[in-house]
Amino acid sequence: MNILVINCGSSSLKYQLINMDDESVLAKGLVERIGIEGSQLTHKPAGKDEYVVKQAIPDHKVAVQLVLDALADPQHGVIKDASEIYAIGHRVLHGGEKYQASIVVNDDVKKVIRECFDLGPLHNPANLIGIEACEAAMPGKKNVAVFDTAFGGTMPPKAYLYAIPREYYEKYHIRRYGFHGTSHSFVSKELIRFAGLDMNNSKVIVAHLGNGASISATVNGKCVDTSMGLTPLEGLIMGTRSGDLDPAILEFLCNHEHISISEMLTILNKKSGVYGMSGGISSDFRDLQKAMEDGNELAKATMEAYIYRVAKYIGAYTAAMNGVDAIAFTAGVGENSNFIREKVTNYLTYLGVKIDKAANDAAHGKEMTISTPDSKVKVCVIPTNEELAIARETLALTK
Ligand code: AMP
Repeated sequence: MNILVINCGSSSLKYQLINMDDESVLAKGLVERIGIEGSQLTHKPAGKDEYVVKQAIPDHKVAVQLVLDALADPQHGVIKDASEIYAIGHRVLHGGEKYQASIVVNDDVKKVIRECFDLGPLHNPANLIGIEACEAAMPGKKNVAVFDTAFGGTMPPKAYLYAIPREYYEKYHIRRYGFHGTSHSFVSKELIRFAGLDMNNSKVIVAHLGNGASISATVNGKCVDTSMGLTPLEGLIMGTRSGDLDPAILEFLCNHEHISISEMLTILNKKSGVYGMSGGISSDFRDLQKAMEDGNELAKATMEAYIYRVAKYIGAYTAAMNGVDAIAFTAGVGENSNFIREKVTNYLTYLGVKIDKAANDAAHGKEMTISTPDSKVKVCVIPTNEELAIARETLALTK
């Protein structure tokens, strides 16, 4: 049974076709520059050569049709035709307060995705276009919306409310929602299983450290806090996003630099984080580490601040849960940087965390325990797989 997973951005469409019998990826690919000059589809079928189609792709409808053509292409395809696709799972950024779980798309679901355009202005419109393009190209097939905010929906008010006038929550639903929810949900469950914990008696922390970065606290399988807020800007220091900062900085800089609030937000989203802090060395942690090893002081200070922030959140979430049984590192940095994992866990000896250096050095992109057997808290590397998580949710809701 094959599930097509779709992740639409404003000018892009990422896809994977997953055979759910063995959860293998039959093909994956990317349509880029939709509606812009130079658009193309790059299709990677398992066990066959990559296939690139360069042609005008004016909208997402055309992009979906191209994906279906590539999947069923006699030479480069992996299925006979669209009848071999059982259902389609869509990553949708924002479900607002309405949805705390994935759901089969109907008119009401589309209405809520539309109502949340304000909360996810870059992603939600594209996500809806992707759903409607699939409905048009594959009539009668079920589409499932998997919301990035759903996992955070179980947070209690003390974690999701901001200390601002109540009317803003009531009028505009200004609150913490949290993002990377599909990843936090998947990795926390994998961690509970891998660490041999009881789902109904577990306290775990997941540090999703990628280009975007966020951290979550989960008690008995339910998220109780997470670091991203109304938008993905809050929390940890990221590749180009600032994470937490004093909101008064915004007015100060707007006045002194003569920039608008939206220009300021662009700076905080695209020009800050380790990229901005290091004076523009790079948003890529490999470059940053190399610069640090070459003796660059700004790179060293940036790396220290990044690591410190992650450790600080782990401490806060341990307090929030009154303990922690296991901690997982995931995403590009978390799965690959033994250096960052070692430095973060150096802050956690007060919790009884002990790291097995050889295991930590050997853990790259695979499930592994990196703590010693006598460590009071299990520390693991758990690779994230958002596409598989979306496919599992889609199958569960449509079977
Ligand atoms: P993601 O957003 O999960 O795809 O993660 C992308 C980030 O992972 C990039 O910014 C890289 O800096 C980082 N990354 C990938 N491999 C390594 C590595 N071996 N060491 C440090 N960072 C890495």
